[in-house]
Amino acid sequence: SQTKTEPMRVLVTGGSGLVGKAIEHVVKQEGGCLEGEQWTFLSSKEANLVDLQQTRAVFEKYRPTHVIHLAAKVGGLYLHMKENLHFLRDNLRINDNVLQTSHERGVTKVVSCLSSCIFPDKTTYPIDESMIHNGPPHDSNFGYSHAKRMIDIQNRGYFAQHGRRYTAVIPTNVYGPYDNFNFENGHVLSALMHKTYAAKKEGTPLQVWGSGTPRRQFIYSLDVARLFLWVLREYDEIDPIILSGESNIVCVCVCFDTSKSDGQMKKTASNAKLRRYLPDFTFTPLSEGIKKTCDWFVNNYDIART
Ligand code: NDP
Repeated sequence: SQTKTEPMRVLVTGGSGLVGKAIEHVVKQEGGCLEGEQWTFLSSKEANLVDLQQTRAVFEKYRPTHVIHLAAKVGGLYLHMKENLHFLRDNLRINDNVLQTSHERGVTKVVSCLSSCIFPDKTTYPIDESMIHNGPPHDSNFGYSHAKRMIDIQNRGYFAQHGRRYTAVIPTNVYGPYDNFNFENGHVLSALMHKTYAAKKEGTPLQVWGSGTPRRQFIYSLDVARLFLWVLREYDEIDPIILSGESNIVCVCVCFDTSKSDGQMKKTASNAKLRRYLPDFTFTPLSEGIKKTCDWFVNNYDIART
């Protein structure tokens, strides 16, 4: 078993995605990796984690002491509405395979990723970590949300029954390089960047789906990555922690298509708990993060997920 002096072997599931790439950057370019540590970033090409045998094989290969569990079937609002059952079943399987295999192989810590969109639809604001299970999630993504909520239940179970310190973070909307910029299936900010890019290039009007009234909080992927490392090394609770900055934006574009769904009107989450632990953490300002993401998108158009 792991001792304090033994370097960690960290397995990052979903290592090829938006958050995974940001963690890789912090580990490899910002000195996030301590001496002797071994970090492995998995993609679905190396192991399809919906499959138990493939999950076991990849754990056997890398023998992790710690796991950052990001892998999930994720999509934008419209894909979720079309395929709720699919999101539920795939994510239930992925999460159970990763958590149970971690337990069987003696992994000492797992940090999984929930999402602020799994909170109850009817709620009081701001939302905090104690409210995850207080009522049904928004209908548009009930499948994904219930699967995510079960991670928190499993974490409690692994602690209660086996003393495992498996926990989770709850980021608000993440954006940054390597995001999904697809119009239909991408996340809101990145899809908007892509739409703006295309409208500018073709000289066509910018059309934005929805009414423009919902409010969302955003966090830059590199901030999420830096906070993930802190959670992995320092945060000792089983209960999850919300990762959110202070910015809250409303979409102010022209030419809305109100026949398209808005999703949840508001899901403002409190970062008070995070601030109690890390009062001095500096979040990347939204304008700076958006500028960096736009620059990345323009410079990497060929490899970006569009
Ligand atoms: P991405 O879509 O960018 O990445 C998803 C990752 O999961 C990819 O590495 C993908 O691998 C992997 N994956 C998907 N299906 C499987 C599978 N069957 N087996 C193995 N790996 C699989 O997602 P994000 O980086 O945005 O999200 C990471 C985590 O953060 C997720 O758990 C998500 O729910 C959560 N989250 C994200 C937010 C956001 O705004 N982006 C907000 C809150 C939470 P590959 O690409 O190789 O197929």
